[in-house]
Parts: sequence; C-alpha cells; structure tokens
Amino acid sequence: MLITRDELALHPITVDETYPAGEIDERGGRFHQAQPLEVHALAELSGLEIRIQGRLETRLEVECDRCITLMEYPVKRNFDLYYRPVSSIAREEEIEISRDELDVAFYSGEGIELADLVREQVILSLPMKIVCQPDCRGLCPICGTNLNWETCQCQRLENESPFASLRGQ
Ligand SMILES: [Zn+2]
Ligand SMILES: [Zn+2]
Repeated sequence: MLITRDELALHPITVDETYPAGEIDERGGRFHQAQPLEVHALAELSGLEIRIQGRLETRLEVECDRCITLMEYPVKRNFDLYYRPVSSIAREEEIEISRDELDVAFYSGEGIELADLVREQVILSLPMKIVCQPDCRGLCPICGTNLNWETCQCQRLENESPFASLRGQ
C-alpha cells in the first residue's frame, strides 16, 4: 500500500491492513514473520511532512543470538512518525526544529510504502541481542553442541583448570 502525498492533500488516510505471514520478512534478516501482521494507522499531512501514527501487532520467529534455537517473539508497537520530502533537505536549516530529529525520516517520490514502514518498525522492536533465556550458554564454538542441553568433550578441555575436578564431571 502506497500512501501518497497527493491523496493526503485531499484527505487523511485511515490504514487497516493485514500482511500475511512471511510478507514483511527481510532477505537475510533476523526474523521471520510467523503470524499475520495487523497495522492500524492514520496518515495525514502536517505542513510539509507526512505524519503516520498507529500501531502494529504480530508474532515473529527469531533465532537466539547465542544458541540459534528458534523461538516466538511477540511484537506490539505504537508509532508516531514524521516524514519529510527528500527535496526539503537542502532547506533544512530554514525549517524550525521543534521535535527530536530522531523522529523525522525522509521520503522520496510520491509517498511512503507502508510495507517498508512496517518492516522498519518491526526491526526497531527487536533488541540488540536476542537470547532465549538470560543465562543461555550458547553453542560450543568447536563442535556446535547446544550447551544448554548437553556438554561436550571440547568444552571440558577448554575449561580445564585446577578446579575442574571439583565440578564432578
Ligand atoms: Zn539460546
Ligand atoms: Zn564441543
């Protein structure tokens, strides 16, 4: 769905979209969209800018960054975004900066592709590091064994220390 400036010049646009599972996946990205994604939003012109505020909800399938186990990750996110036309960058200094610049993005062409906005918001909802449990032990770097479930020979060698025998292996 393309939200165009021309249409917004006539009236605000109400968005009620559902993206089927997998639709907003990123090529080589960190997540798989496991459930349909629902987005409800209102788009309107605010001076030069397009403002889009709304919420989205879905469930992702993500890999633990340490042990690569797949797990469900629910996403529920509110957003309130402002987009300026790229052509305004040259005049940036003339525009009074009244909001945190972090909230402002740019668009080129006729308007904003909703799927791109949604994908970006989903990515932003993911933490820097995704772990299946706070004390995930990860994979053995040598043989790939998931150390949450079992131990391996290489790990024992690596951990060899004066105290190793006290661990009761
Ligand atoms: Zn893990
Ligand atoms: Zn190992």
